[in-house]
Amino acid sequence: MNVIVLGAPGTGKGTYSHRVSKHFNIPHISTGDLFRDHQKKETELGKKVQEFMAKGQLVPDEITIEMVKERLAENDCENGFILDGFPRTVAQAEALDKITNIDVAVYFSAEHHVIIDRITGRRICRDCGYIHHVKNIPMKKEGKCNECGGEVYQREDETPEVVKDRLFVYDTKTRPLINHYENIGILKEIDANLDINHPNFKVVDNFIKVLEELDK
Ligand code: AMP
Repeated sequence: MNVIVLGAPGTGKGTYSHRVSKHFNIPHISTGDLFRDHQKKETELGKKVQEFMAKGQLVPDEITIEMVKERLAENDCENGFILDGFPRTVAQAEALDKITNIDVAVYFSAEHHVIIDRITGRRICRDCGYIHHVKNIPMKKEGKCNECGGEVYQREDETPEVVKDRLFVYDTKTRPLINHYENIGILKEIDANLDINHPNFKVVDNFIKVLEELDK
Protein backbone atom coordinates (compact mmCIF):
# COMPACT_ATOMS: atom_id res chain seq x y z
CA MET A 1 0.00 0.00 0.00
CA ASN A 2 1.52 3.25 -1.20
CA VAL A 3 0.28 6.14 0.89
CA ILE A 4 0.97 9.85 0.88
CA VAL A 5 -0.13 12.21 3.64
CA LEU A 6 -1.07 15.81 2.96
CA GLY A 7 -1.80 18.71 5.29
CA ALA A 8 -0.24 21.88 6.63
CA PRO A 9 2.78 21.67 8.90
CA GLY A 10 1.53 21.05 12.44
CA THR A 11 -1.55 19.00 11.61
CA GLY A 12 0.14 16.11 13.43
CA LYS A 13 0.69 14.04 10.30
CA GLY A 14 4.23 13.07 11.37
CA THR A 15 3.01 11.67 14.70
CA TYR A 16 0.05 9.83 13.11
CA SER A 17 2.14 8.44 10.26
CA HIS A 18 4.74 7.15 12.73
CA ARG A 19 2.07 5.23 14.67
CA VAL A 20 0.19 3.91 11.66
CA SER A 21 3.39 2.79 9.92
CA LYS A 22 4.14 0.58 12.95
CA HIS A 23 0.59 -0.83 12.82
CA PHE A 24 0.99 -1.90 9.17
CA ASN A 25 4.71 -2.60 9.37
CA ILE A 26 5.61 -0.32 6.47
CA PRO A 27 8.17 2.51 6.63
CA HIS A 28 7.23 6.07 7.52
CA ILE A 29 9.28 8.26 5.19
CA SER A 30 9.37 11.93 6.07
CA THR A 31 11.30 14.18 3.69
CA GLY A 32 11.80 16.71 6.50
CA ASP A 33 13.39 13.95 8.63
CA LEU A 34 15.57 12.81 5.72
CA PHE A 35 16.85 16.37 5.24
CA ARG A 36 17.42 16.82 9.00
CA ASP A 37 19.34 13.55 9.04
CA HIS A 38 21.60 14.83 6.27
CA GLN A 39 22.17 18.01 8.26
CA LYS A 40 23.01 16.06 11.39
CA LYS A 41 25.53 13.96 9.45
CA GLU A 42 26.85 17.12 7.76
CA THR A 43 26.62 15.63 4.26
CA GLU A 44 26.91 17.77 1.11
CA LEU A 45 23.15 17.57 0.71
CA GLY A 46 22.69 18.59 4.34
CA LYS A 47 24.77 21.73 3.79
CA LYS A 48 22.90 22.57 0.58
CA VAL A 49 19.47 22.48 2.23
CA GLN A 50 20.37 24.18 5.54
CA GLU A 51 19.45 27.71 4.50
CA PHE A 52 16.13 26.82 2.85
CA MET A 53 15.03 24.86 5.89
CA ALA A 54 16.05 27.47 8.46
CA LYS A 55 13.93 30.05 6.61
CA GLY A 56 10.94 27.74 6.21
CA GLN A 57 11.33 27.75 2.42
CA LEU A 58 11.02 24.72 0.19
CA VAL A 59 14.17 22.92 -0.90
CA PRO A 60 14.39 23.03 -4.75
CA ASP A 61 12.34 20.31 -6.47
CA GLU A 62 15.28 18.61 -8.27
CA ILE A 63 17.12 17.96 -4.99
CA THR A 64 14.01 16.73 -3.17
CA ILE A 65 12.73 14.52 -6.00
CA GLU A 66 16.11 12.79 -6.38
CA MET A 67 16.31 12.06 -2.66
CA VAL A 68 12.77 10.60 -2.58
CA LYS A 69 13.39 8.50 -5.69
CA GLU A 70 16.44 6.90 -4.06
CA ARG A 71 14.61 6.29 -0.78
CA LEU A 72 11.58 4.65 -2.42
CA ALA A 73 13.90 2.27 -4.30
CA GLU A 74 15.11 0.73 -1.02
CA ASN A 75 13.99 -2.81 -0.11
CA ASP A 76 11.84 -1.87 2.87
CA CYS A 77 9.39 -0.07 0.53
CA GLU A 78 8.48 -3.29 -1.30
CA ASN A 79 5.15 -3.69 0.54
CA GLY A 80 4.41 -0.01 0.62
CA PHE A 81 5.21 3.15 2.55
CA ILE A 82 3.72 6.21 4.17
CA LEU A 83 5.27 9.24 2.51
CA ASP A 84 5.01 12.33 4.69
CA GLY A 85 5.97 15.82 3.51
CA PHE A 86 6.20 14.87 -0.17
CA PRO A 87 4.88 15.92 -2.63
CA ARG A 88 4.71 19.58 -1.70
CA THR A 89 4.51 21.13 -5.17
CA VAL A 90 2.69 20.23 -8.37
CA ALA A 91 6.07 19.41 -10.00
CA GLN A 92 6.85 16.96 -7.17
CA ALA A 93 3.41 15.31 -7.55
CA GLU A 94 4.01 14.86 -11.28
CA ALA A 95 7.47 13.41 -10.62
CA LEU A 96 6.04 11.01 -8.02
CA ASP A 97 3.47 9.73 -10.53
CA LYS A 98 6.39 8.72 -12.75
CA ILE A 99 8.28 6.99 -9.90
CA THR A 100 5.42 4.84 -8.55
CA ASN A 101 1.64 4.54 -8.21
CA ILE A 102 -0.10 6.02 -5.18
CA ASP A 103 -3.11 4.19 -3.69
CA VAL A 104 -4.38 6.91 -1.40
CA ALA A 105 -3.67 10.52 -0.43
CA VAL A 106 -4.73 11.10 3.18
CA TYR A 107 -5.41 14.77 3.86
CA PHE A 108 -5.31 15.97 7.49
CA SER A 109 -7.32 19.18 7.79
CA ALA A 110 -6.95 21.62 10.71
CA GLU A 111 -7.51 25.33 11.45
CA HIS A 112 -4.48 27.65 11.35
CA HIS A 113 -4.71 28.65 15.06
CA VAL A 114 -4.69 24.97 16.08
CA ILE A 115 -1.64 24.43 13.88
CA ILE A 116 0.34 27.37 15.29
CA ASP A 117 -0.25 26.19 18.87
CA ARG A 118 0.87 22.67 17.98
CA ILE A 119 4.03 23.64 16.15
CA THR A 120 5.40 26.07 18.70
CA GLY A 121 4.93 23.45 21.48
CA ARG A 122 6.63 20.63 19.62
CA ARG A 123 9.79 18.90 20.96
CA ILE A 124 11.55 16.24 18.89
CA CYS A 125 13.99 13.47 19.78
CA ARG A 126 17.43 13.93 18.23
CA ASP A 127 17.95 10.16 18.12
CA CYS A 128 14.70 8.50 17.02
CA GLY A 129 12.65 11.46 15.72
CA TYR A 130 9.73 10.81 18.09
CA ILE A 131 7.55 13.92 18.38
CA HIS A 132 6.37 15.20 21.78
CA HIS A 133 4.33 18.31 22.65
CA VAL A 134 4.73 20.36 25.83
CA LYS A 135 0.96 20.18 26.47
CA ASN A 136 -0.38 17.20 24.52
CA ILE A 137 2.42 14.61 24.58
CA PRO A 138 4.64 15.85 27.43
CA MET A 139 8.03 14.31 28.11
CA LYS A 140 7.81 11.99 31.12
CA LYS A 141 11.33 13.08 32.06
CA GLU A 142 12.14 16.72 31.24
CA GLY A 143 14.24 17.00 28.07
CA LYS A 144 14.30 13.23 27.44
CA CYS A 145 12.51 11.20 24.76
CA ASN A 146 9.59 9.02 25.92
CA GLU A 147 10.48 6.32 23.36
CA CYS A 148 14.25 6.00 23.56
CA GLY A 149 15.51 8.36 26.29
CA GLY A 150 17.38 10.53 23.72
CA GLU A 151 17.73 14.28 23.98
CA VAL A 152 14.75 16.35 22.78
CA TYR A 153 14.98 19.75 21.09
CA GLN A 154 12.88 22.44 19.42
CA ARG A 155 13.42 22.91 15.69
CA GLU A 156 14.74 26.28 14.54
CA ASP A 157 11.94 26.49 11.97
CA GLU A 158 9.28 26.25 14.71
CA THR A 159 9.48 29.86 15.93
CA PRO A 160 6.28 31.92 15.36
CA GLU A 161 7.90 34.03 12.56
CA VAL A 162 9.13 31.02 10.59
CA VAL A 163 5.84 29.17 11.15
CA LYS A 164 3.98 32.11 9.56
CA ASP A 165 6.24 31.85 6.49
CA ARG A 166 5.82 28.06 6.31
CA LEU A 167 2.03 28.39 6.39
CA PHE A 168 2.22 30.93 3.56
CA VAL A 169 4.37 28.52 1.52
CA TYR A 170 1.88 25.73 2.29
CA ASP A 171 -1.14 27.80 1.24
CA THR A 172 0.42 28.91 -2.03
CA LYS A 173 2.42 25.84 -3.16
CA THR A 174 1.08 22.72 -1.44
CA ARG A 175 -2.65 23.32 -0.90
CA PRO A 176 -3.36 23.02 -4.67
CA LEU A 177 -2.35 19.34 -4.42
CA ILE A 178 -5.54 18.61 -2.49
CA ASN A 179 -7.53 19.33 -5.66
CA HIS A 180 -5.05 17.35 -7.73
CA TYR A 181 -5.64 14.16 -5.69
CA GLU A 182 -9.37 14.81 -5.32
CA ASN A 183 -9.66 15.05 -9.10
CA ILE A 184 -7.98 11.69 -9.60
CA GLY A 185 -10.30 10.18 -6.97
CA ILE A 186 -7.84 9.01 -4.30
CA LEU A 187 -8.22 11.75 -1.66
CA LYS A 188 -9.47 10.89 1.85
CA GLU A 189 -9.92 13.75 4.31
CA ILE A 190 -9.50 13.29 8.07
CA ASP A 191 -10.43 16.07 10.52
CA ALA A 192 -7.27 16.69 12.55
CA ASN A 193 -8.41 19.60 14.74
CA LEU A 194 -8.67 17.63 18.00
CA ASP A 195 -5.54 17.06 20.05
CA ILE A 196 -4.25 13.57 20.63
CA ASN A 197 -5.27 13.53 24.31
CA HIS A 198 -8.85 14.76 23.69
CA PRO A 199 -11.46 12.10 24.69
CA ASN A 200 -13.00 12.21 21.20
CA PHE A 201 -9.65 11.98 19.39
CA LYS A 202 -10.04 9.47 16.54
CA VAL A 203 -7.45 10.54 13.97
CA VAL A 204 -5.18 7.50 14.28
CA ASP A 205 -8.17 5.08 14.24
CA ASN A 206 -9.61 6.86 11.21
CA PHE A 207 -6.25 6.73 9.46
CA ILE A 208 -6.00 2.97 10.11
CA LYS A 209 -9.59 2.48 8.82
CA VAL A 210 -8.80 4.33 5.59
CA LEU A 211 -5.82 2.02 4.95
CA GLU A 212 -7.74 -1.13 5.91
CA GLU A 213 -10.38 -0.20 3.32
CA LEU A 214 -7.65 -0.32 0.65
CA ASP A 215 -7.01 -3.99 1.33
CA LYS A 216 -10.68 -4.96 0.75
P1 AMP B 1 8.80 19.18 7.55
O1 AMP B 1 9.50 18.48 8.66
O2 AMP B 1 8.03 18.25 6.68
O3 AMP B 1 7.95 20.33 8.03
O4 AMP B 1 9.93 19.81 6.61
C1 AMP B 1 10.87 20.73 7.11
C2 AMP B 1 11.51 21.51 5.97
O5 AMP B 1 12.17 20.59 5.09
C3 AMP B 1 10.56 22.27 5.09
O6 AMP B 1 10.21 23.55 5.63
C4 AMP B 1 11.39 22.39 3.81
O7 AMP B 1 12.41 23.37 3.96
C5 AMP B 1 12.06 21.03 3.74
N1 AMP B 1 11.23 20.05 3.01
C6 AMP B 1 10.65 18.92 3.50
N2 AMP B 1 9.97 18.26 2.55
C7 AMP B 1 10.09 19.01 1.42
C8 AMP B 1 9.60 18.88 0.09
N3 AMP B 1 8.81 17.85 -0.29
N4 AMP B 1 9.95 19.82 -0.81
C9 AMP B 1 10.75 20.86 -0.47
N5 AMP B 1 11.23 21.07 0.76
C10 AMP B 1 10.91 20.14 1.72
